[in-house]
Amino acid sequence: MTSELRSWKREMIKHRDVYIGGEWVIPADGEEIELENPATELPFATVALAGPDTMAAAVHSARQAFDGGEWTSLPKEERLRRLERLGQYLADNAARYGDELVQEIGLPLAFARGGVMSAAHHVKYWANTWRDYPWTEERRGVSGVRARITKEPVGVVAAIVPWNAPHSLSASKIVPALLAGCTVVLKPSPLNAVSLRAFADAAEYAELPPGVLNVVPAGGPASDALVRAFGVDKVAFTGSDATGRIIAAAAAATLKRVSLELGGKSAGIVLDDAPLERLVATVPPAFTLNNGQACAAMTRMLVPRRRQAEIVDAIAAEVGRLTVGDPADPGTAVGPLAFRAHYERVRGLLDGAVRSGGRIVTGGSRPAGLEQGFYLEPTVVTDVAPDSDIAQQELFGPVLTVLPYDSVDDAVRIANDTAYGLSGAVFGADPEQVEAVAGRMRAGSVHLNNGLSVDIGIPFGGFKASGYGREFGPEGMDEYVEQRAVFLDGEPFRR
Ligand code: NAD
Repeated sequence: MTSELRSWKREMIKHRDVYIGGEWVIPADGEEIELENPATELPFATVALAGPDTMAAAVHSARQAFDGGEWTSLPKEERLRRLERLGQYLADNAARYGDELVQEIGLPLAFARGGVMSAAHHVKYWANTWRDYPWTEERRGVSGVRARITKEPVGVVAAIVPWNAPHSLSASKIVPALLAGCTVVLKPSPLNAVSLRAFADAAEYAELPPGVLNVVPAGGPASDALVRAFGVDKVAFTGSDATGRIIAAAAAATLKRVSLELGGKSAGIVLDDAPLERLVATVPPAFTLNNGQACAAMTRMLVPRRRQAEIVDAIAAEVGRLTVGDPADPGTAVGPLAFRAHYERVRGLLDGAVRSGGRIVTGGSRPAGLEQGFYLEPTVVTDVAPDSDIAQQELFGPVLTVLPYDSVDDAVRIANDTAYGLSGAVFGADPEQVEAVAGRMRAGSVHLNNGLSVDIGIPFGGFKASGYGREFGPEGMDEYVEQRAVFLDGEPFRR
């Protein structure tokens, strides 16, 4: 608890403007809100949020930049060079923005800085993908006609991002969208109105033409106006399934393209012969990563009934060793939850589980010595039904629910029996059986003998209520293009 980065030693941050058309603009219809540091419960910043008119101005600016060709008329290599500068700026300034992110949401320092750094990795990865991407292809149709199929930028993109990993989730949209030739309105969560200015500062540094990248934090009404705007062609959204449903419905009015990266309640199936040491090494980080606020976190573990006590005890012992504390301290593994209402919701769900007979094996309380801040000990819960709230709802906190099963079919059924389908895992000694069970999981990613991993080169997204569309990999570029067929020859129609 001695880190010099501790935010309560710092001055209040004040930002009264948002970034539109290459300029910092004070929103006339906006509001100013105070942000609270989740580690201290003290205010650390006041920030401006845009209202609907300011958002309309941002859309107009992105529309003009797209229609006027300010971005696409630059030679491709020049566009890439500017994006490389954007990535370089973020890498060079990762400590500053990462430190701000620690104050905003209490993410452990290394994760916060790593998230900002990841933007540079995105640029590097997408630059290669962009070069190899099939932008144009010639094909003969069944009638013998020749056609050229080209990939065209989808247009103006509204990139709407959540608070939990805001820099990497912004980069995974902005970088492929801009490389495809789109222009972007980035809409941060109000909670990240300080640290996501990183992208506006980087756009200035990289000399992106005005309007190509706008950064406009906003609350509900202005965000809704963004989704509904005629000038927006595509909404790329990451967030909760509740907001995803609202966005899908609102976007339907203009039939704009939508991709949705939503929540999860991912299960790990532990087969009868799974080695205990592998579980101990992989399960605790898989549900406590990002202070337990990761969409793909493995938050349910299905164990053979006969091994339940042995596995639960070993995992609980390891979880009890995790360092919970000041997120600005480099030794911290788990920091506070991001904000008060969220903390109260998670604690309420835990209390509800206990009231209906659930047993907290480890954690469940405020850690000793941390009287201030939204801290919760990493928690393992058992003796709850597979259809209970705690086993079905996305908690978004460091909580693992352990459920026993009696047969592998039973385990697969329980694993798939949620609204979500983002990620899954299978642990066992026999690789063939592990793979066979993994193949039965209804999830966008499955991990063999591992709880969770993400890689920019591998498509990421959900089945069912975890959303539609994919980020990362060449599939992530598909989200920002339309396909055009140019008929090169062919016979006239004859009666
Ligand atoms: P959220 O749905 O509350 O908010 C996400 C974003 O949507 C924010 O920028 C918010 O301001 C904005 N928003 C709110 N109402 C809106 C509206 N009516 N129209 C348009 N935008 C609106 O989610 P959150 O609490 O910020 O983030 C946590 C959620 O994100 C969790 O459910 C988590 O699983 C999910 N998530 C998913 C992934 C993934 O890749 N699948 C990654 C990270 C987080």
